[in-house]
Amino acid sequence: MQVKTQQDEFQSYLKDASNIVGGYAEKVFIPENEKEIAEILAEANAKKIPVTISGARTGTVGGAIPFGGYVISMEKLNQVKEINKKDCFAVVQGGTILKDFQRLVESENLFYPPDPTEWSCQIGGNIATNASGARSFKYGATRRYVRALKVILPNGETLSLKRGKIFSEKGYIELQTDQGSIIRAKLPTYRQPNVRKNTTGYFSGDKVDAVDIFIGSEGTLGVIVEAELELLPKPEAFFSGIVFFKDERDLLDFVFEARELSFRSRAERNQNEIDATLLEYFDSQSLKFISQKFPETPQTVSSAIFFEQETTQDNEDLLLEKWNALLEKHNASLEISWFTTNEQDREKMRQFRHALPVAVNERIARYNQRKVGTDMAVPDENFLSFLRFYKIKLEESGIDYVIFGHIGDSHLHANLLPKNEEEAVKSRHLYGRFIAQAIMLGGTISAEHGIGKHKRKYLYVQFGERYLNEMVAMKKAFDPHGILGQGNLFDAKFLN
Ligand SMILES: Cc1cc2nc3c(=O)[nH]c(=O)nc-3n(C[C@H](O)[C@H](O)[C@H](O)COP(=O)(O)OP(=O)(O)OC[C@H]3O[C@@H](n4cnc5c(N)ncnc54)[C@H](O)[C@@H]3O)c2cc1C
Repeated sequence: MQVKTQQDEFQSYLKDASNIVGGYAEKVFIPENEKEIAEILAEANAKKIPVTISGARTGTVGGAIPFGGYVISMEKLNQVKEINKKDCFAVVQGGTILKDFQRLVESENLFYPPDPTEWSCQIGGNIATNASGARSFKYGATRRYVRALKVILPNGETLSLKRGKIFSEKGYIELQTDQGSIIRAKLPTYRQPNVRKNTTGYFSGDKVDAVDIFIGSEGTLGVIVEAELELLPKPEAFFSGIVFFKDERDLLDFVFEARELSFRSRAERNQNEIDATLLEYFDSQSLKFISQKFPETPQTVSSAIFFEQETTQDNEDLLLEKWNALLEKHNASLEISWFTTNEQDREKMRQFRHALPVAVNERIARYNQRKVGTDMAVPDENFLSFLRFYKIKLEESGIDYVIFGHIGDSHLHANLLPKNEEEAVKSRHLYGRFIAQAIMLGGTISAEHGIGKHKRKYLYVQFGERYLNEMVAMKKAFDPHGILGQGNLFDAKFLN
């Protein structure tokens, strides 16, 4: 096992996509197997040394940034151990890179839907953040695909958990480690908000599956070393479009109708009707940013939608007609929009979508600022009111911004792009207003990126002292000395 002890050897382990600065560590371990991970943890636990689990560090909330102690990098536990074509599942190690896994799965004519836009992330990181993305509109978040987990706890013992086997009862869950120890944990009692996507705090509910406790736990309960993941048959083909609208009202009406039609087709299992896999929104500012990388992007429009639908040879023509009719009905600018049924152009459309967060991050780095980006989702019925609130406040502020993202899931990202310290302060103030508004509308402060270190003060706003204390009580059942993922989810003071 490689152990890095010199600061200049491990600078890249002190940063992620959050731009949080000041991370530091004593040692970075790069273990090659589970036994080594168990040993590092057991030693750290005995000495009460903090441990930060490091995936690919694409997280946007600082979850993988250490502030002291040890770092365990998962990069060498990157094997796909099994792909079972007959029963449609795979067994992978926690450090497996999503992109590599998806390629392998697709070469077997299977499909792993979770797609958090940034494909260099690791499966363990995806599970720890319950990652989702554009395609979650049809296929759901990572949670839906996790059938089993192997987790190493801070004392070095292992939990091997299969979905559907152990559930919480009367608010408690009891688990036995592979070594025979019993862990009894009281689960938090808060209700999950009525939103389509949520990764805010530990999972809760009346009958919680043991596997779900670790999904979205942000490196605070144990190290995810192995997962069994459900796979789907690979769709035959996709019809994809990037469609521009002159009037945003038309775009919104189009989205609401496409969404309703999609829900209906799924309920009726009808493959010959509109059923979008994703519905992604770009405001006019987003289109300006993307045009830096894709100069052909029209600039005289108000907004755009990226959509996709699975097709087969039999229904492709019919579905193309149906989408065309829906777009015409809602006055889309069809003559300047882009459509494709081939894989190469579809990849280009995915790059178009990816170009936006990348261009935004570059712009932020140019001004040496930190991005202030929202990740809130609200119930569908409050979406329009929340979007209006965003636009009014952002326009008033005079600060550059983009609004984009997963409109099918009533989940948009507003990114404020401050140019100087004064704008940065104003941006953070506005962010607080957005958080308050999302909570007031029954929403969540984090739909997909998680809380990490970045948003823990807002978790306090959403949950309050009582629920945070309940989360801490559950954490302590798994991690009595509070060594794992320190600073993630809650402030250290809650752990004392
Ligand atoms: C351009 C861009 C776009 C993005 N778009 C999306 C998006 O659409 N949707 C979305 O959900 N996310 C998105 N993200 C965020 C990011 O890609 C995800 O959060 C990803 O799941 C993190 O995986 P990672 O391996 O990089 O984890 P890291 O960033 O290394 O870690 C994230 C957290 O997980 C913990 N962790 C990592 N590995 C393990 C493990 N094996 N066991 C236990 N805990 C672990 C860490 O301690 C940390 O708390 C985006 C990021 C970028 C840069």
